[in-house]
Amino acid sequence: MPSKKIHKILVANRGEIAVRIISTLKKLSINSVAVYADNDADSLHCRIADEARPLGSGSLKDTYLNIQKIIDLALDAGADAIHPGYGFLSENADFAEACEANNLIFIGPDADSMRLMGDKIRARQFAIENDIPVVWGLVGSLEEIEAQAAALPYPVLIKASAGGGGKGMHIVDDTSQLHLSLEQAVREAERYFGNGQIFVEQYIRNPRHIEVQILADHHGNVIHLYERECSVQRRYQKVIEESPSPTLTEEKRKAICETAVNLCKKMNYNNAGTVEFIVDENQNFYFLEMNTRIQVEHPVTEQRTGIDIVEEQIRIARGKVMGYTQDSVMANGHAIECRIYAEDPENNFMPAPGDITLYHEPKMRGVRIDSSIDRPTTISDSYDPMISKLICHGKDRESAIEITRNALKDYIVQTKKTNIPYLQSIIDNDDFIENKIDTSYCEKHQDELIDSMIKMRDEIKKEDVVALFLFYDFNKKYLENKTIDNIWEDIGYWRYNMNIDVEIGRDAACHVRTDAANVVFHVQIDRIRRKSLSCTINGQTYEVMLSQNGGDINKVIINGMTESIFVSETNDNNYCVHLKGLDFICRRNDELNDTKDYSNTENKNSDLEYHSPMPGKVIKVNVKEGDEVKVDDVLCVVEAMKMENNIKAMTSGKVAKVFVKENDKVDVKTILIELAL
Ligand code: ADP
Ligand code: ADP
Ligand code: MG
Repeated sequence: MPSKKIHKILVANRGEIAVRIISTLKKLSINSVAVYADNDADSLHCRIADEARPLGSGSLKDTYLNIQKIIDLALDAGADAIHPGYGFLSENADFAEACEANNLIFIGPDADSMRLMGDKIRARQFAIENDIPVVWGLVGSLEEIEAQAAALPYPVLIKASAGGGGKGMHIVDDTSQLHLSLEQAVREAERYFGNGQIFVEQYIRNPRHIEVQILADHHGNVIHLYERECSVQRRYQKVIEESPSPTLTEEKRKAICETAVNLCKKMNYNNAGTVEFIVDENQNFYFLEMNTRIQVEHPVTEQRTGIDIVEEQIRIARGKVMGYTQDSVMANGHAIECRIYAEDPENNFMPAPGDITLYHEPKMRGVRIDSSIDRPTTISDSYDPMISKLICHGKDRESAIEITRNALKDYIVQTKKTNIPYLQSIIDNDDFIENKIDTSYCEKHQDELIDSMIKMRDEIKKEDVVALFLFYDFNKKYLENKTIDNIWEDIGYWRYNMNIDVEIGRDAACHVRTDAANVVFHVQIDRIRRKSLSCTINGQTYEVMLSQNGGDINKVIINGMTESIFVSETNDNNYCVHLKGLDFICRRNDELNDTKDYSNTENKNSDLEYHSPMPGKVIKVNVKEGDEVKVDDVLCVVEAMKMENNIKAMTSGKVAKVFVKENDKVDVKTILIELAL
């Protein structure tokens, strides 16, 4: 196969993976073309690309999933190839064919491999035919599966054949739930994947998720870049991934990697891919599925091997022999990736899109960050709420954990909610540290992890937060490098108000809530100068002095200890204050701020009034006015970001009013249902 030239590549994706791909294109001096939906025009991937082309507005079908538009833009830009990233069109065989038909190189495998592996039932069958172990399974129509109801090896897992991203799977414990679960699974499969075909698999108890990174070229060379373990998952979606697996014996490692290579050889696979396995308590491994694309967690493999997987993908797509042989792949040390999400771990990991008011990445040895953003911005509710990935590489697992712990403390994303405190509590959790985990780790440890988030918050002295906040509040113009001629103009009429009340939120995410008792600190300001503040809180004096001003970080000394100032104003006029790895929402309650609006729309939910947790669509209303309900009854179901969210009664009572009907579009301000006692 003659090698083809590639001078320009269109990246048909957004977010961190688009940024990641473009950075390799820069390294290779290949021109990059970004594409963007209207709401992404200022995104980082557009700013760093050599050129950016608009996809217009509308739903995903009109933008990032619009094959024709993307091909037209690539042709118009004079691109030679398209990189699809992950998600979106990356596993769409029609897209790969459309590229080829237009003389554009699709950077990924051929359409046949994508079709085979994109269909979990066919992939299973192919594995069976090639003596690759799979778990017990049953394929058939709903009626055929139900006819076997009594014979199924419970618990079983219902899966969508076209499924992905952990969506639409259902565990069934016994025959009594089978019918309802099958129906729901088919409904979800049709809605999310456009294909209602489902199948049943034996549910492996306490398993691990271990996968193998593959590279394969058009010259028959297939190699593996070792494995990754991704057992820390929430809702079947990976949160933390690491390499090597801390679980496998050397013998099993060799066997699982060889099995993956073998599967790829049998199907004449080419380009990068990942073969996923489920591994039971005795280290028996079973083929789960193959992802025919670059994977979210590929950086842990890159950090260990020093191989740029995107660069190899391009090399392979050009028809060249890949740059490595199995023997030349060296894997060093241990790497851990944390996915940083705008989501609420305390509320079933509900996505929490919204404004980021301050963004600061840790800079330290062994740390790599693949981010979708580089400055304050808005996380849109139209896309996956993943902000970035933090990848830490150390000489062994212990040191990788230590680097991760430090990096998370220094990773500051001030917004409504992120999972950073949650990741911190996993990294500090004994069972994680001792690798006593399986894929239900997050579920089993939920209470413990949330408790540890609360404990971390409790251990931080709130008076320090308050003093830091007030120092910032009095000096913010100065800190932001604005010229101030008149000190009185600068600090306003504070001198008439020597006593200030500051409130700090009480929940685990340290948020001020209107419906919960916040902690109030009565502060007496003793002395204030441009670069220092002295105040008394609960009888103790707090001296805050500026110690470093300039660069991108301002530092202060609070009663002798040095802290960086990371404070931002939230869009509801509160302040987000970072101290020792955590963010606290503060607000001043004195007359200086009486113009501020403290009403907080987010938390108006009482036990009687039910709002949508996020923008979405009502797909089911279970109650009507006058119905009696009990605690935990599902009042209605709102679908948002490909998830069904059950809105449950928090109290028993009577339905006073139903404000919505099926198919209504709702946002967080919409009242769904009102109860009366
Ligand atoms: P893996 O790569 O390990 O299989 P996932 O299944 O979680 O991990 O990754 C694919 C998912 O990533 C998609 O289902 C989609 O929800 C999400 N995704 C797709 N495109 C993007 C993007 N550009 N940025 C962030 N997330 C995305
Ligand atoms: P997806 O395409 O959504 O990634 P997978 O088949 O890869 O679907 O499964 C995702 C996750 O679901 C796995 O990582 C594992 O945690 C869990 N899972 C899948 N199949 C089984 C099974 N048979 N038994 C137990 N857990 C499973
Ligand atoms: Mg998977």
